[in-house]
Amino acid sequence: MQTACILSIGTELTLGQTVDTNGAWLAAELAALGVRTVLHMTVADELEPLGQALRTVAERAEVVVATGGLGPTDDDLTRAAMARVLGAELVSDPDSLDQIRAFFAARGRLMPAQNAVQALIPEGARALPNTCGTAPGLAAVVGRTAVYCLPGVPFEMRAMFRREVAPAIQRAAAGAVILSSTLRTTGLPESEVGARLQDLMVRGRNPEVGTTAALGIIGVRINATGRTIAEAEALRDAVEAEVRVRLGDAVFGRNEETLADAVGELLRVRRATVSVAESCTGGLIGALLTDVPGSSAYFRGGVIAYANHVKVDVLGVPEGLLAAEGAVSATVAEALARGAARVLQSDYAVSVTGVAGPGGGSVEKPVGLVYTGLHTPEATVAERHQFGSDAPRDAIRQRAAWVALDRLRRALRPGLGQPAATGG
Ligand code: AMP
Ligand code: MG
Repeated sequence: MQTACILSIGTELTLGQTVDTNGAWLAAELAALGVRTVLHMTVADELEPLGQALRTVAERAEVVVATGGLGPTDDDLTRAAMARVLGAELVSDPDSLDQIRAFFAARGRLMPAQNAVQALIPEGARALPNTCGTAPGLAAVVGRTAVYCLPGVPFEMRAMFRREVAPAIQRAAAGAVILSSTLRTTGLPESEVGARLQDLMVRGRNPEVGTTAALGIIGVRINATGRTIAEAEALRDAVEAEVRVRLGDAVFGRNEETLADAVGELLRVRRATVSVAESCTGGLIGALLTDVPGSSAYFRGGVIAYANHVKVDVLGVPEGLLAAEGAVSATVAEALARGAARVLQSDYAVSVTGVAGPGGGSVEKPVGLVYTGLHTPEATVAERHQFGSDAPRDAIRQRAAWVALDRLRRALRPGLGQPAATGG
């Protein structure tokens, strides 16, 4: 397996003013190519430390991907530092200069003189064309390591990585093909997912299986290596099928598929409609549902029933119920869902009422206590959830929204019920 180092260049990064999203994105892309990132470094826009950082990362892995410092201004020093590391002169690359001029011409402008420095390339390095900006990238070999310097602007960096770097890495993998997929699950804790997949997750196996977790959504990533696409595909598909059997109904999607996509597809197939009544999630569920293009086919609308009088006047929650049980209660969650289905004329409805914190908790109703209501043509049922009472407000709201969507998803898939029993 090839190894990589990622070098993020920029004083805004070392000072914490900009979050290094390039490093995270690159590490994930490299992993999908079967390359393991062994070191991340972040360095300021200063010539001497930048040169040292380049030397260090080049000694530590077979591939280096650096981003940033390729702009036209005096603090953009990646070209100069690479020239030093290579012991080479900077020379103007005519093709790059033409491309930079063409970039401005296409926008009806003349190239500012300052941008000419972006065409300077250390002798012995290769310029990587930039299809969406002015700064060309650099590719060079330092010692035995392939070093790629990409622009800092994330979308330019991503395009250049995919066009120029990923294919070169695949060629260096000596004909090996790596195919990845991710199954997305919810409803099982990560430890339970790990236990059910233990034998598949043993290090060194092909395909490689690993999990990632974020707020109750567990991703199962599968990387399969083969000599041909067909071989890698067959390996990946077999493990994917096995994981689906072992995790059962917990699997809601593949790759970029979201819970809202899954729910939308199920509603569409059933020709059913849904509405929402949201208290502590403040519209989050409606936002998730309408993130999906074409959701107007099944999403009726929602009420953000924050104040009690909205719960009563708009959704018909009995005032006596609120007084007796409190807004955060199972019966109010049910009344909210029933009210939304009636007022907004939908077949299904979900509701959320809870204590998102950080204040407002009590002994009986601590921060993180959430009730979801689910109304279906058959019944209206509430569920109680207790999320960590020290969890931040946004985490509690996000989890509540996902739990509510997942209940709807499971209700739309009758006969599958709980995740399948453990398979090993
Ligand atoms: P540069 O190529 O260094 O001029 O970077 C251009 C812009 O890209 C910077 O001003 C940042 O806003 C952004 N940028 C640079 N490096 C990163 C990074 N590692 N992660 C996210 N954004 C970045
Ligand atoms: Mg910079």
